[in-house]
Amino acid sequence: MARQPSADGRVGLVRARFSRRDRARGASVTALPRRADVVVIGGGIVGVCAALALRERGLSVTLCEKGRVAGEQSSRNWGWVRTQGRDPRELPLMLAALRDWERLAQQVDCDIGFRRAGATYLCETEAQLAQRAAWMPHARAFGLPTRMLSAAETDALLGRDDRRFKGAQHTATDAMAEPSLAVPALARLAAAQGAQIVETCAVRTLDRVAGRV
Ligand SMILES: Cc1cc2nc3c(=O)[nH]c(=O)nc-3n(C[C@H](O)[C@H](O)[C@H](O)COP(=O)(O)OP(=O)(O)OC[C@H]3O[C@@H](n4cnc5c(N)ncnc54)[C@H](O)[C@@H]3O)c2cc1C
Repeated sequence: MARQPSADGRVGLVRARFSRRDRARGASVTALPRRADVVVIGGGIVGVCAALALRERGLSVTLCEKGRVAGEQSSRNWGWVRTQGRDPRELPLMLAALRDWERLAQQVDCDIGFRRAGATYLCETEAQLAQRAAWMPHARAFGLPTRMLSAAETDALLGRDDRRFKGAQHTATDAMAEPSLAVPALARLAAAQGAQIVETCAVRTLDRVAGRV
Protein backbone atom coordinates (compact mmCIF):
# COMPACT_ATOMS: atom_id res chain seq x y z
CA MET A 1 0.00 0.00 0.00
CA ALA A 2 1.08 3.54 -0.63
CA ARG A 3 1.15 6.13 2.08
CA GLN A 4 0.08 9.47 0.65
CA PRO A 5 2.67 12.26 0.56
CA SER A 6 2.78 14.70 3.44
CA ALA A 7 2.40 18.46 2.98
CA ASP A 8 6.05 18.85 1.98
CA GLY A 9 5.59 16.26 -0.75
CA ARG A 10 7.69 13.53 0.84
CA VAL A 11 6.31 10.05 1.28
CA GLY A 12 7.25 7.29 3.61
CA LEU A 13 6.25 3.84 2.44
CA VAL A 14 5.40 3.98 -1.23
CA ARG A 15 4.06 1.60 -3.80
CA ALA A 16 7.15 0.98 -5.86
CA ARG A 17 5.67 0.79 -9.34
CA PHE A 18 2.75 -0.29 -11.46
CA SER A 19 1.22 -2.62 -8.88
CA ARG A 20 -0.39 -6.04 -9.08
CA ARG A 21 -3.71 -4.27 -8.41
CA ASP A 22 -3.12 -2.01 -11.42
CA ARG A 23 -2.53 -5.08 -13.57
CA ALA A 24 -5.69 -6.71 -12.20
CA ARG A 25 -7.59 -3.56 -13.18
CA GLY A 26 -6.40 -4.05 -16.74
CA ALA A 27 -3.87 -1.22 -16.76
CA SER A 28 -1.26 -3.60 -18.13
CA VAL A 29 -2.09 -6.05 -20.90
CA THR A 30 -0.29 -9.31 -21.56
CA ALA A 31 -0.93 -9.82 -25.28
CA LEU A 32 0.47 -7.57 -27.98
CA PRO A 33 -2.16 -5.92 -30.17
CA ARG A 34 -1.85 -6.67 -33.90
CA ARG A 35 -1.15 -3.06 -34.83
CA ALA A 36 -0.57 0.38 -33.37
CA ASP A 37 0.14 3.80 -34.82
CA VAL A 38 3.12 4.12 -32.48
CA VAL A 39 5.07 1.60 -30.40
CA VAL A 40 6.90 3.14 -27.47
CA ILE A 41 9.85 1.17 -26.10
CA GLY A 42 10.36 1.61 -22.36
CA GLY A 43 8.05 2.36 -19.46
CA GLY A 44 10.03 5.03 -17.63
CA ILE A 45 8.87 8.64 -17.31
CA VAL A 46 9.83 9.41 -20.92
CA GLY A 47 8.02 6.45 -22.48
CA VAL A 48 4.95 6.80 -20.27
CA CYS A 49 4.61 10.53 -20.99
CA ALA A 50 5.18 9.92 -24.70
CA ALA A 51 2.39 7.32 -24.68
CA LEU A 52 0.09 9.70 -22.84
CA ALA A 53 0.82 12.61 -25.19
CA LEU A 54 0.24 10.40 -28.24
CA ARG A 55 -3.11 9.20 -26.86
CA GLU A 56 -4.09 12.82 -26.19
CA ARG A 57 -3.49 13.40 -29.92
CA GLY A 58 -5.69 10.45 -30.87
CA LEU A 59 -3.01 7.98 -31.98
CA SER A 60 -3.17 4.31 -30.98
CA VAL A 61 -0.19 3.45 -28.78
CA THR A 62 1.43 0.29 -27.50
CA LEU A 63 4.14 0.66 -24.86
CA CYS A 64 6.53 -2.29 -24.43
CA GLU A 65 8.44 -2.46 -21.15
CA LYS A 66 11.01 -5.19 -20.66
CA GLY A 67 10.49 -5.27 -16.89
CA ARG A 68 7.97 -3.29 -14.89
CA VAL A 69 6.69 0.23 -15.46
CA ALA A 70 8.88 2.62 -13.45
CA GLY A 71 11.17 -0.25 -12.52
CA GLU A 72 14.37 1.57 -13.48
CA GLN A 73 15.77 5.09 -13.02
CA SER A 74 12.46 6.92 -13.26
CA SER A 75 11.30 5.73 -9.84
CA ARG A 76 14.65 6.41 -8.14
CA ASN A 77 15.51 10.00 -8.91
CA TRP A 78 15.19 13.05 -6.68
CA GLY A 79 11.89 14.20 -8.13
CA TRP A 80 12.86 17.78 -8.89
CA VAL A 81 10.90 19.69 -11.52
CA ARG A 82 13.25 22.64 -11.47
CA THR A 83 14.10 25.78 -13.41
CA GLN A 84 16.69 27.13 -10.97
CA GLY A 85 20.29 26.94 -12.08
CA ARG A 86 19.55 25.48 -15.48
CA ASP A 87 21.17 26.29 -18.77
CA PRO A 88 18.95 29.11 -20.11
CA ARG A 89 18.35 27.10 -23.29
CA GLU A 90 16.47 24.55 -21.14
CA LEU A 91 14.21 27.09 -19.46
CA PRO A 92 11.37 27.26 -22.04
CA LEU A 93 11.10 23.47 -21.89
CA MET A 94 11.16 23.44 -18.07
CA LEU A 95 8.46 26.11 -17.86
CA ALA A 96 6.31 23.99 -20.20
CA ALA A 97 7.10 20.90 -18.09
CA LEU A 98 5.98 22.66 -14.91
CA ARG A 99 2.67 23.54 -16.57
CA ASP A 100 2.27 19.93 -17.77
CA TRP A 101 3.02 18.51 -14.30
CA GLU A 102 0.46 20.86 -12.76
CA ARG A 103 -2.20 19.74 -15.26
CA LEU A 104 -1.38 16.02 -15.05
CA ALA A 105 -1.32 16.07 -11.24
CA GLN A 106 -5.01 17.02 -11.44
CA GLN A 107 -5.82 14.21 -13.87
CA VAL A 108 -4.18 11.19 -12.18
CA ASP A 109 -6.04 8.97 -9.72
CA CYS A 110 -3.88 9.65 -6.64
CA ASP A 111 -1.68 12.26 -5.02
CA ILE A 112 1.68 12.03 -6.80
CA GLY A 113 3.34 14.48 -4.43
CA PHE A 114 3.49 17.31 -6.95
CA ARG A 115 4.17 20.47 -4.92
CA ARG A 116 5.41 23.92 -5.87
CA ALA A 117 7.51 23.79 -2.72
CA GLY A 118 10.39 25.79 -4.22
CA ALA A 119 14.03 24.97 -4.84
CA THR A 120 16.79 26.31 -2.60
CA TYR A 121 20.53 26.18 -3.17
CA LEU A 122 22.37 26.76 0.08
CA CYS A 123 25.71 28.58 -0.07
CA GLU A 124 28.39 28.10 2.57
CA THR A 125 30.98 30.39 0.96
CA GLU A 126 31.10 33.77 -0.75
CA ALA A 127 32.33 32.01 -3.89
CA GLN A 128 29.21 29.84 -3.98
CA LEU A 129 27.03 32.90 -3.47
CA ALA A 130 28.76 34.68 -6.35
CA GLN A 131 28.34 31.64 -8.58
CA ARG A 132 24.60 31.52 -7.86
CA ALA A 133 24.22 35.29 -8.24
CA ALA A 134 25.75 35.06 -11.72
CA TRP A 135 22.68 33.07 -12.83
CA MET A 136 20.20 35.77 -11.77
CA PRO A 137 20.08 37.54 -15.19
CA HIS A 138 18.64 34.33 -16.69
CA ALA A 139 15.93 34.26 -14.02
CA ARG A 140 15.02 37.87 -14.78
CA ALA A 141 15.00 37.24 -18.54
CA PHE A 142 12.41 34.47 -18.06
CA GLY A 143 10.37 36.27 -15.40
CA LEU A 144 11.22 33.72 -12.70
CA PRO A 145 10.71 34.79 -9.07
CA THR A 146 14.24 33.63 -8.13
CA ARG A 147 15.79 35.55 -5.22
CA MET A 148 19.13 35.63 -3.47
CA LEU A 149 18.53 35.22 0.27
CA SER A 150 20.68 36.78 2.97
CA ALA A 151 22.14 34.67 5.79
CA ALA A 152 19.30 35.78 8.07
CA GLU A 153 16.62 35.00 5.47
CA THR A 154 18.19 31.58 4.86
CA ASP A 155 18.18 30.76 8.57
CA ALA A 156 14.56 31.91 8.82
CA LEU A 157 13.60 29.68 5.88
CA LEU A 158 15.34 26.68 7.46
CA GLY A 159 14.24 27.39 11.03
CA ARG A 160 17.78 27.72 12.38
CA ASP A 161 19.89 30.57 13.71
CA ASP A 162 23.52 29.47 13.52
CA ARG A 163 24.43 31.46 10.37
CA ARG A 164 26.11 28.38 8.90
CA PHE A 165 25.04 29.53 5.44
CA LYS A 166 26.18 32.80 3.90
CA GLY A 167 22.95 32.87 1.93
CA ALA A 168 20.98 30.96 -0.65
CA GLN A 169 19.24 31.10 -3.98
CA HIS A 170 15.54 30.34 -3.92
CA THR A 171 12.92 29.87 -6.65
CA ALA A 172 9.49 29.56 -5.07
CA THR A 173 7.78 28.29 -8.24
CA ASP A 174 10.00 25.22 -8.65
CA ALA A 175 8.44 21.91 -7.78
CA MET A 176 8.91 18.27 -6.97
CA ALA A 177 6.92 15.09 -7.44
CA GLU A 178 7.31 11.65 -5.89
CA PRO A 179 8.80 9.57 -8.73
CA SER A 180 7.68 6.15 -7.50
CA LEU A 181 4.08 7.37 -7.34
CA ALA A 182 4.06 9.67 -10.34
CA VAL A 183 5.21 7.31 -13.09
CA PRO A 184 2.79 4.45 -12.28
CA ALA A 185 -0.04 6.98 -11.90
CA LEU A 186 0.76 8.51 -15.29
CA ALA A 187 0.91 5.00 -16.77
CA ARG A 188 -2.55 4.27 -15.34
CA LEU A 189 -3.80 7.53 -16.86
CA ALA A 190 -2.33 6.55 -20.25
CA ALA A 191 -3.93 3.09 -19.96
CA ALA A 192 -7.28 4.63 -19.00
CA GLN A 193 -7.03 6.74 -22.14
CA GLY A 194 -6.48 3.64 -24.26
CA ALA A 195 -2.72 3.08 -24.35
CA GLN A 196 -1.81 -0.62 -24.38
CA ILE A 197 0.92 -1.15 -21.79
CA VAL A 198 2.70 -4.47 -22.06
CA GLU A 199 5.13 -5.34 -19.26
CA THR A 200 7.84 -8.02 -19.29
CA CYS A 201 8.07 -7.44 -23.03
CA ALA A 202 11.61 -6.68 -24.20
CA VAL A 203 11.97 -5.29 -27.70
CA ARG A 204 14.87 -7.21 -29.24
CA THR A 205 14.70 -6.13 -32.87
CA LEU A 206 12.76 -4.01 -35.34
CA ASP A 207 11.31 -5.81 -38.38
CA ARG A 208 10.83 -3.49 -41.33
CA VAL A 209 8.61 -4.44 -44.26
CA ALA A 210 7.91 -2.03 -47.12
CA GLY A 211 9.23 0.86 -45.09
CA ARG A 212 7.03 0.09 -42.09
CA VAL A 213 7.98 -1.31 -38.70
C1 LIG B 1 20.84 10.44 -8.97
C2 LIG B 1 19.86 10.97 -10.01
C3 LIG B 1 18.98 11.99 -9.66
C4 LIG B 1 18.10 12.49 -10.60
N1 LIG B 1 17.25 13.47 -10.23
C5 LIG B 1 16.38 13.96 -11.11
C6 LIG B 1 15.47 14.97 -10.74
O1 LIG B 1 15.46 15.42 -9.61
N2 LIG B 1 14.59 15.43 -11.68
C7 LIG B 1 14.58 14.93 -12.96
O2 LIG B 1 13.76 15.38 -13.78
N3 LIG B 1 15.45 13.97 -13.34
C8 LIG B 1 16.33 13.48 -12.46
N4 LIG B 1 17.19 12.51 -12.84
C9 LIG B 1 17.13 12.02 -14.22
C10 LIG B 1 15.92 11.09 -14.44
O3 LIG B 1 15.87 10.08 -13.45
C11 LIG B 1 16.04 10.46 -15.83
O4 LIG B 1 16.27 11.48 -16.78
C12 LIG B 1 14.77 9.73 -16.21
O5 LIG B 1 14.38 8.79 -15.22
C13 LIG B 1 14.99 9.00 -17.52
O6 LIG B 1 13.76 8.40 -17.86
P1 LIG B 1 13.66 7.36 -19.00
O7 LIG B 1 12.21 7.00 -19.15
O8 LIG B 1 14.38 7.86 -20.20
O9 LIG B 1 14.56 6.12 -18.50
P2 LIG B 1 14.23 4.89 -17.51
O10 LIG B 1 13.51 5.29 -16.28
O11 LIG B 1 15.53 4.18 -17.34
O12 LIG B 1 13.24 4.02 -18.36
C14 LIG B 1 13.65 3.30 -19.49
C15 LIG B 1 12.83 2.04 -19.51
O13 LIG B 1 13.06 1.36 -20.75
C16 LIG B 1 13.06 -0.02 -20.50
N5 LIG B 1 13.77 -0.64 -21.62
C17 LIG B 1 15.06 -0.47 -21.97
N6 LIG B 1 15.35 -1.20 -23.07
C18 LIG B 1 14.19 -1.82 -23.42
C19 LIG B 1 13.83 -2.71 -24.48
N7 LIG B 1 14.73 -3.10 -25.40
N8 LIG B 1 12.55 -3.17 -24.54
C20 LIG B 1 11.64 -2.77 -23.63
N9 LIG B 1 11.93 -1.94 -22.60
C21 LIG B 1 13.18 -1.47 -22.50
C22 LIG B 1 13.76 -0.15 -19.15
O14 LIG B 1 13.43 -1.37 -18.51
C23 LIG B 1 13.22 1.07 -18.40
O15 LIG B 1 12.08 0.76 -17.62
C24 LIG B 1 18.09 11.97 -11.92
C25 LIG B 1 18.95 10.92 -12.26
C26 LIG B 1 19.84 10.43 -11.32
C27 LIG B 1 20.78 9.31 -11.73
